[in-house]
Amino acid sequence: MTGSIDLETLCAEKGLRITEQRRVIARVISEAEDHPDVEKLYQRASAIDKGISIATVYRTVRLFEEAGILDRHDFGDGRARYEAAPEAHHDHLIDVETGKVVEFVDPELEALQKQIAERLGYRLVDHRMELYGVAIDRKD
Ligand SMILES: [Zn+2]
Repeated sequence: MTGSIDLETLCAEKGLRITEQRRVIARVISEAEDHPDVEKLYQRASAIDKGISIATVYRTVRLFEEAGILDRHDFGDGRARYEAAPEAHHDHLIDVETGKVVEFVDPELEALQKQIAERLGYRLVDHRMELYGVAIDRKD
């Protein structure tokens, strides 16, 4: 998403060895705004560097995820989708007909979740909110 931290910079900070192929994959992920799955990442990365295989994309994505510089999502279609770890928290709305992912932040919702956790005796440290919907005025 826009506003995510540059993955290449994060790799360097985490001490990950950055090969040319990893650099290409990192850039493709950093530039993506659509939460792509591995197949899409592979298409984009191999368009830049023909030598990149889908196995390399899988390995690199797992490495980035383990280093905590990548967020993996499951938006209900059984395919893992990825985005560079965002600088600021956001939630997702998924269009169940097109698979389009809309990002949003709602301060009231954030506050409410904190209150719920506290009411249950917890200090909230993280959450995931996914809304699934169909467009009300789709014109097709
Ligand atoms: Zn997102």
